[in-house]
Amino acid sequence: MKTTEVLADLKRRFPNEPEYHQAVEEVLSSIEEVYNEHPEFERYNLIERLCVPDRIISFRVSWVDDSGKVRTNMGYRVQHNNAIGPYKGGIRFHASVNLSILKFLAFEQTFKNSLTTLAMGGAKGGSDFSPRGKSDMEIMRFCQAFIAELWRNLGADTDVPAGDIGVGGREVGYMFGYFKKMTREFTGSFTGKGLSFGGSLIRPEATGYGNCYFLQNMLATKGLDIKGKRVAISGSGNVATYTAKKIMELGGKVVSMSDSGGSIIAPDGLTQEQFDYIFELKTYMRGRLYEVPDRFPELEYHEGERPWQLVKCDIAMPSATQNELDGVDADALLANGCFAVSEGANMPSTPSAVHKFIDAKILYAPGKAANAGGVATSGLEMAQNSERLNWSAEEVDHRLSEIMKNIHAACVKYGKQDDGYVNYVRGANIAGFMKVAEAMMAQGIL
Ligand code: NDP
Repeated sequence: MKTTEVLADLKRRFPNEPEYHQAVEEVLSSIEEVYNEHPEFERYNLIERLCVPDRIISFRVSWVDDSGKVRTNMGYRVQHNNAIGPYKGGIRFHASVNLSILKFLAFEQTFKNSLTTLAMGGAKGGSDFSPRGKSDMEIMRFCQAFIAELWRNLGADTDVPAGDIGVGGREVGYMFGYFKKMTREFTGSFTGKGLSFGGSLIRPEATGYGNCYFLQNMLATKGLDIKGKRVAISGSGNVATYTAKKIMELGGKVVSMSDSGGSIIAPDGLTQEQFDYIFELKTYMRGRLYEVPDRFPELEYHEGERPWQLVKCDIAMPSATQNELDGVDADALLANGCFAVSEGANMPSTPSAVHKFIDAKILYAPGKAANAGGVATSGLEMAQNSERLNWSAEEVDHRLSEIMKNIHAACVKYGKQDDGYVNYVRGANIAGFMKVAEAMMAQGIL
């Protein structure tokens, strides 16, 4: 395989999909050597079958807003690969959603799910519908219209969606409810469900907590821990808030949070009271971070800016969205002494930023390893649903931390260089790829 040729071919066949090309390029460049050691992979054209999704479902979603106006959006589900288990991956509702973004996310999800060691294939779905400013009833009608189109393609052993940007417990509840109505079956067809109908304890916390556990494992390789460290976090949604909560519990100082409007900076670290207010504001009141200084004037708000160049930190945990940390941000972080980056979001660092982190040989964990705790706990939710049992929070949290430890170990196994530096990107990509590749080879040409 020649990475450049495969990529050029994908770009020709699927033009105008920059995020998808970016994700494929990153994986191909790290697995090229291993791939070429297996001539049978090439004979079966494994690489093309792995890069191109198994199936893409796209459809129109029509719904009626509160004023009686009929609205339309696009809906998609990218079922990328089910070699090692049913398709599994979140649903994103955001105005920016398009096929390039969902194809990149579904591709990444395939390797991430493989890394968790659980039996889950990769998928991703969503819509260009923006939940911001919509009433509860509008959200419900949209979710129902979305599932009215998609339900035939889903199922506990077929394809199991979860949340992502713009899709939390409320949206999953509405989608699960409508799916149940259409199928007349109560099965573990979604994860991230409410606790009263099959959800798992710790699932809401899992991506953020899991990222902190991964970070702990990385720091331990250098004899370090989180206590007293200054941690810059971006985002203030599900992943970011639970990351901040765990960092504070572990004695770290959260020096920033952000939303799509701007960043809040706390040079001395957020106090518990300040964090509790931000959590409440963003999680339950659906507020905006620019409101925070009204309550806490000592906190700085920087309109339209990301945190990376605004505050000194030891550790950065980008947890908002893709390509939110670029080469210039990476230079600023490195100049300010940042020695670890652990990604809560999917592909938040641009290729230029990733190269700078790796060239500087700092601890750098890509999202597909560091944020895999979310989908891993979704896998645990599926297991509990199959058993019709609920595990305690302690049990789920313990399993989550073991899974993150194992993912870290797999990254070290495949990513450790001769000079001792661990390239977590290479490690995660190779570890994730090998399992899927072996399963695809065993199952023949499909
Ligand atoms: P949420 O919708 O809960 O939160 C997203 C946060 O990111 C919000 O603060 C939002 O700001 C901000 N944001 C969204 N888009 C942009 C943008 N274009 N520029 C700046 N800020 C932006 O989503 P999640 O926390 O669930 O997801 C965050 C990231 O983590 C995504 O990359 C997702 O794919 C990834 N992830 C999520 C998992 C999960 O379990 N939820 C699992 C693994 C990965 P605002 O409030 O203004 O909209």
